[in-house]
Amino acid sequence: MSQQGPVRTRFAPSPTGWLHIGGARTALYSFLLARQAGGQFILRIEDTDRKRYVPGSEEDLMEGLRWLGLEWDEGPDKGGPYGPYRQSERKALYRRYAEELVARGHAYYCFCTPERLARLREEQRRRKLPPRYDGLCRRLDPEEARRRVEAGESHVIRFKAPREGTVTAHDLIRGDITVANKDIDDYILLKSDGYPTYHLAVVVDDHLMKITHVLRGAEWLGTFPLHVHLYRAFGWPEPIWVHLSTFLKPSGKGKISKRDADIFRKDHKSVLIRDLREFGYLPEAVNNWMALMGWSYDDRTEFFTLDDLIEKFSLERLKPSPAAVNFSKLDHFNGLHIRALAPEELARRLVPFFQKAGYSVTPEDLLPLIPIIQTRLTTLEDGPQLAGFFFQEDIEHPEQDLIGDKMDAASSYQALSKVYQRLEALDPWTTETIEQVLRGLVEELGLKPRQLFGIVRVAVTGRRVSPPLFETMALLGKERCLRWMKQALAALERLQAPASPS
Ligand code: GLU
Repeated sequence: MSQQGPVRTRFAPSPTGWLHIGGARTALYSFLLARQAGGQFILRIEDTDRKRYVPGSEEDLMEGLRWLGLEWDEGPDKGGPYGPYRQSERKALYRRYAEELVARGHAYYCFCTPERLARLREEQRRRKLPPRYDGLCRRLDPEEARRRVEAGESHVIRFKAPREGTVTAHDLIRGDITVANKDIDDYILLKSDGYPTYHLAVVVDDHLMKITHVLRGAEWLGTFPLHVHLYRAFGWPEPIWVHLSTFLKPSGKGKISKRDADIFRKDHKSVLIRDLREFGYLPEAVNNWMALMGWSYDDRTEFFTLDDLIEKFSLERLKPSPAAVNFSKLDHFNGLHIRALAPEELARRLVPFFQKAGYSVTPEDLLPLIPIIQTRLTTLEDGPQLAGFFFQEDIEHPEQDLIGDKMDAASSYQALSKVYQRLEALDPWTTETIEQVLRGLVEELGLKPRQLFGIVRVAVTGRRVSPPLFETMALLGKERCLRWMKQALAALERLQAPASPS
């Protein structure tokens, strides 16, 4: 029997760190499923583990989801019919459900002290046994246990796992998973501080919030049979379960470690959503990239907008096998989505990146540049790198770069001064007239286009790589081009000067 009614999915992060692609992909798929079916996508904050709470992480999760465009219908900040949506605010409720399981004979009070449990674990370690609760309090008389609870004795509530037989849990993409009940521990459901464990809280909330599809990481497969037991103990219909593939290092060997993550960041790559945003990736590209790590449409189509994904996503095409994180793919998708933006939109998105690099520009300032940079950007961060000089009064000339390919300072100087003379007289100053003059000079001076244009490019941009030269010069304007060429000529002159006698 499975949960009936309109599709309701949830993303249930613990506020224990920054939103990363593992969580964000779960959120994405859950969002897609809900949107596609006209159902609801719920955000629930699972903050019952107070020790692991990281201040600021809840805000980061929400900001990251919003940036990705994965807006939720119900959540801690907007409420909804099944709230509150923060587990710490639902504390009283979990005790009620844990007590219900005790009453039904599926759970029991346990009074073992942390010291006794530590000794037990030590003993098990020594005998090379799996860490398990030994069931001491399971054998207590229920009436006596109740009296001790009422007398205020510190206790937890444990699940009374069946000792015989097996349990079969069904995952939509992995099929049936069967385990022997004797291998399931008497997990704690309610802790001595009254907070539920994840296992109790997740089951109670998914039920009360009428979640129809539980999508989550494969790291939860181990305790999946326990959750199935809990649903059965309560007598509740189960949701459809989907345990998503895990992510591996780019090499495909092993999980991504903290150290790997630090190495990625040095190269402005990251598995954190906040970093990807800062490093100039578009949310459209991040969604496209994440969507295809664990799902495919037809093994061919690779460009998807969020709307495409809402239309085309299907649970059946999820892949259970682990996916290696591939940052070149991310770059590739980012380029594609940058090119798909309207010029005004790209200009708007580039503004903060120019500002961060020290250029105070408006979208209107950037708009004329879009036609010459749009196809050359991999990330938004590349914008100021590639075109910052447009907003400078002065540029630096890396002197050696002013020397043309297979030329020397003297011949480069001569070529550039000819360019200067001709351009000084040029009117009107347009892409076409500039091109005409420069191509004419290539012929006249007997140089290769690469040689002459290379010198001019460094002279008017300070860089060996720039947007297309003639358009760049037209946009820079005559005054700046001439002034910067003059400075470049002075630099070439210095390079020619004989070394002063020592
Ligand atoms: N709070 C759990 C986590 O952070 C949620 C797992 C689930 O979706 O059931 O991963």
